[in-house]
Amino acid sequence: MTSNAALIARRNRTIGPYSPLFYTEPLQFVSASGVWLTEASGVRYLDGYNNVPHVGHTNERVVRAMHEQAATLNIHTRYLNERIVDYSEQLLATFAPKLDRVLYGNSGSEANELAIRIARQLTGATGIIVSDYSYHGTTITLAQLTTGLKTREPLGAHVRTLRIPDLDSDPRPESEVLAATLAELDAAIASLQEAGFGLSASLFDPLFSTEGMPRIPSGLVAGIVQRVRAAGGLVIADEVQSGFGRTGSHMWGHAATGMDPDLVTLGKPMGNGHPMSAVVTSEAVLDEFGSHNEFFNTFAANPVSAAVGEAVLQEMAAEQLQARAASLGAAARTRLEACAARYDFVRAAKGTGMFLGLDFAVDGAPAPELAKQVVEAMKARHVLISRIGRNESVLKVRPPLAFGAAELPLLLDALDDALSEI
Ligand code: PMP
Repeated sequence: MTSNAALIARRNRTIGPYSPLFYTEPLQFVSASGVWLTEASGVRYLDGYNNVPHVGHTNERVVRAMHEQAATLNIHTRYLNERIVDYSEQLLATFAPKLDRVLYGNSGSEANELAIRIARQLTGATGIIVSDYSYHGTTITLAQLTTGLKTREPLGAHVRTLRIPDLDSDPRPESEVLAATLAELDAAIASLQEAGFGLSASLFDPLFSTEGMPRIPSGLVAGIVQRVRAAGGLVIADEVQSGFGRTGSHMWGHAATGMDPDLVTLGKPMGNGHPMSAVVTSEAVLDEFGSHNEFFNTFAANPVSAAVGEAVLQEMAAEQLQARAASLGAAARTRLEACAARYDFVRAAKGTGMFLGLDFAVDGAPAPELAKQVVEAMKARHVLISRIGRNESVLKVRPPLAFGAAELPLLLDALDDALSEI
């Protein structure tokens, strides 16, 4: 195996040093299966972080479906093929009846870009509201509204940001936090209207994942949706991280939080690592967009992608992965709450289903260095997790949904051990 140092040097000379690597000493894997990743030395790591290999790394059903379809036919959508229609019927059956149409792409960025394009065309407006700490993708449009990742692209003049509050760290009463946040939204909408941009859409991750899974006031999501609609905007739910059963209680994050979107964007877990994404919307929205636009995307919605997407849904059903996320997630959350009670530097347990975390704070101030230490300490115990949030002080535990009852104690015991070391 090439040493880390030699590989990093070659990497820097080719793709450059600007794609961040995890960990002080990065990890180099050679194979994976289920929720385990293996180094060349044979050492195995438990995957408590990656949501792309949703039904498990190298999942047999997915790999077989991909192989069989690739060996039979792979073609674009200008020819008829039944597989994508089969898949679309199965995918749409997981949404509320009014969300009954789907367009495909190859990445979360493409899906968000398309959703925004649709919203702009339908409303005739360009203004957009996002959270003040979020990430939605790589295109120019999306870089112009990125607030949660370094980018040289300035925030667009047509973009307004809303600070998503967290009751775990905000000392004000819940009703006051709700009223202040909705007043901030009203001001943002008014400012877009005064500047002549109007409001095309709001774009939020229903779980506010990048923001650090804040505990938001009840009524906030409904309040946002009501105000955006009243101002003529469409509601876009970015389910790239929160979708496909991760909340345990629901297949979709927007259903779990009552977001009631006009457009839903899907990505990451959809193809278990095979690049595919989608925009789900209503017949009325698609008809209005489609009557002015011929939509064709070379690689999207091909039969191999359809076969893979179908295998992911089948595996989820066969292994009851959403129900498992609910039960294991609840058990994990109980243990995380015990950690929050035991360690004074843990401010709160965060998250729901199999998207969980711990927020670190010392004397009321976010403690990103502690979170970083724990992530490294978990690595030393051969468990992968990460951290998120405005201050990067929130641990991010977001394993493949194939995570099992046997693995959960391994992760939680390692975490307990790492916390006691800190
Ligand atoms: N939306 C969210 C919420 C994401 O987390 C990401 C990726 N981290 C994207 C969109 C962009 O997806 P992709 O990298 O597939 O373009």
